[in-house]
Amino acid sequence: MASKLHIGHHRVIDSSDSSSAASSSYTSAQSLSTLSLSLEHRASISTERTSLHEWVKTQNEVLHQAQRPMQTEETALQVRRTKGSYRLTDFIIQRTLGTGSFGRVHLVRSKHNLRFYAIKVLGKEKIVRMKQESHTRNEQLILQAVQHPFIINLWGTFQDTANLYMVMDFVPGGELFTLLRRSNRFPDPVAKFYAAEVALALNYLHSKDIIYRDLKPENILLNHDGHIKIADFGFAKHCTTTVWTLCGTPDYLAPEIIGNVRYNKSVDWYALGVLIFEMLSGLPPFHEPDISPVVLYEKIAQGPACIKWPAFNTNATDLILKFMERDSSKRFGNLAHGAGDVFAHPWFAEVDWKKLLNREITAPYLPKIANDGDASAFERYPEDNASARYGETTADPYGDRFPDFEYTSS
Ligand code: AMP
Repeated sequence: MASKLHIGHHRVIDSSDSSSAASSSYTSAQSLSTLSLSLEHRASISTERTSLHEWVKTQNEVLHQAQRPMQTEETALQVRRTKGSYRLTDFIIQRTLGTGSFGRVHLVRSKHNLRFYAIKVLGKEKIVRMKQESHTRNEQLILQAVQHPFIINLWGTFQDTANLYMVMDFVPGGELFTLLRRSNRFPDPVAKFYAAEVALALNYLHSKDIIYRDLKPENILLNHDGHIKIADFGFAKHCTTTVWTLCGTPDYLAPEIIGNVRYNKSVDWYALGVLIFEMLSGLPPFHEPDISPVVLYEKIAQGPACIKWPAFNTNATDLILKFMERDSSKRFGNLAHGAGDVFAHPWFAEVDWKKLLNREITAPYLPKIANDGDASAFERYPEDNASARYGETTADPYGDRFPDFEYTSS
């Protein structure tokens, strides 16, 4: 318990009691409506490059990838074989935990060991229509290859004629997004705690040559003990040099992603700068009510000089500026000492990184979880009887496109 990171138990609101946010010691005087920041999740985007120049690059990339079979990537990633063979009838679906562009995530219970899991269900037809096949294959490959205390654990994957299924640990504490919106903003030590855990997870991914590419509070879940678990590896990619796909979430895109140039893993450090800013202020740095994507992208390209800076701790401001450096070759995390510069930054001076990694530092907020399958920390979604059609036998034109998802009929 003894820790050098003095976060204590800051009062962070109880997810079942939004009124308590108003009495929290650090709640902003502004209400969410005056901030005009939506409680809705921000959509991730993935757009094909369209110019001739980009088309040529696409063709080169396709060629390059064709010459490097998936096997190479798998070997490079040292895939940790997942633990079991699963099928839909192994589980009882309880409720929806979240929705994504290609399907939804359900809380399920195993009929065999009675434990709770989260299953992500992705419609094959939709994935193919939206040209997300390679992203989906990457998500599976990468989640199979990683094992880290602050990253979601994948147990196995399977498919039937219509859908792909990914069986994960259920992370019961809800999204950091929900906690942040209900709290309006976090005090400095709380933001520092979450930022430090994210930094460890990013460093781990980068050490395996994986770019994450979709950091945002919506994708950071809280475990029962309040420590983070990063979810949604839909845009993660194994990459030893540079990539160029335009993907991520607009508020969090680094200028080089918008600028149609190749980019490297330093885009994740840029996004961590945005995340720290959003945790400390309640708003992403370039936020304006009803801002159009074009204006947002112009501001991102202009860089942090055009941001109205709240009165953050000066070390926090310094680190955010170093992460949001427009020139990626000068960006923190991407310099000669890599993540070492991040860990040694004065804002993190009191962090005991070893203890943090071992989860020996008490988290600032302990989710209230009544029992094992308690999903009350998650928003409610209309169920729309979505699960009723899972397992139905349909035509399967895309059966051969996802060879690593084991084919199991119910
Ligand atoms: P994703 O499509 O992976 O972004 O998941 C959509 C949402 O489902 C997330 O934002 C979480 O709210 C929820 N979710 C995803 N994975 C899990 C999990 N393993 N445990 C609990 N909730 C999850």
